[in-house]
Amino acid sequence: MSERNLILIGPPGSGKGTQAKRLAKRFGIPQIATGDILREAAASGSEAGGRARSIMERGHLVPDDLVIDIVRARLAKEDCNPGFILDGFPRTTGQAEALDAILREQGRGPVRVVALVVADEELVRRILSRGESRADDNEGSLRNRLEVYDRETAPVLEHYRSALVEIDGMGDMAQITDAIVEALTEQR
Ligand code: ADP
Repeated sequence: MSERNLILIGPPGSGKGTQAKRLAKRFGIPQIATGDILREAAASGSEAGGRARSIMERGHLVPDDLVIDIVRARLAKEDCNPGFILDGFPRTTGQAEALDAILREQGRGPVRVVALVVADEELVRRILSRGESRADDNEGSLRNRLEVYDRETAPVLEHYRSALVEIDGMGDMAQITDAIVEALTEQR
């Protein structure tokens, strides 16, 4: 079977992390969540981690070159041979262009891009009512994350126009996973 290279894009609160985990399991590919990797780096007390932490807490994006280096190194690991699911990357068109170059460099096959679509009011409601809250789950930071998504990340969908499938992210978690799998396996 050929490699399955997936990118999952969605605003904060869209269920992107949950779906990425479920798809990783379903397809037997690793989930690469840049937010998780950055939070681990922040907790490790390294210098780059410390810088990333204060940026993340305010709901802004960490610099492109930092995440691009993280993703390049991660994709080169052997467990990515059958494919991968990127969760939270690329988040800017600069990152998308860098990813194109990395995949070319590493001789990888094409990517499919899944965008989760959820209304803004629902995103805010979900995040502010999330049981286990993160340092960046306060109202000010959330407002920034939503603005950053519209300004920086929404244009990434345009970059992937021909590889893109848009999925309604409202409703039952398991049904959304099935809708994604179905859209990915349809003949195109
Ligand atoms: P969410 O989608 O809820 O915002 P993530 O865990 O994906 O959560 O990201 C949390 C934070 O980590 C972001 O707000 C940002 O500060 C940082 N981050 C994650 N991925 C990237 C990326 N690709 N580029 C820049 N910053 C990132």
